Amino acid sequence: MDLVSGIGMLADMQIIPVDGITGNYNTNWTGKANAAADALLGGLDFVYVHMEAPDECGHHGDPEHKKYAIEQIDSKVIPVFMERMEKAGEDYAILVTPDHPTPCACKTHVSEPVPFLIYTNKRSLFNGAHRYTEDEAAKTGLLIEDGYRMIDRLFAIK
Ligand SMILES: [Zn+2]
Repeated sequence: MDLVSGIGMLADMQIIPVDGITGNYNTNWTGKANAAADALLGGLDFVYVHMEAPDECGHHGDPEHKKYAIEQIDSKVIPVFMERMEKAGEDYAILVTPDHPTPCACKTHVSEPVPFLIYTNKRSLFNGAHRYTEDEAAKTGLLIEDGYRMIDRLFAIK
């Protein structure tokens, strides 16, 4: 998505092309996972993977494709990436989070808190949440008021 690529350029990040990306639910999901793994295994220290489809589907009021997009992230992005890193014997950490909710019912961004997940294969960070959902996240009582500080938690993992 042009906006995110532009932010990456301003942050002096390398933009990694991936064939078949669309910014929607028909994107190249495994291509994104493999590009991220290739970049990290190739020597980069940090990769940001943007998956626009759930937001787009929210804007279109399309819950079926939004669910499909989230299922693709669950099945074709995160596990593919993790498997690549595990097979390579690499220590890694991931942060999974939306930047904001986009409920299909209102077709626009809202300001409610979003769930986030930080995982590392180095050690357990278990905080009591068993599923990645808004309700389960709320039960943990953990709230990061300033979303831009969330990445500090990822970078603090040693
Ligand atoms: Zn949006």
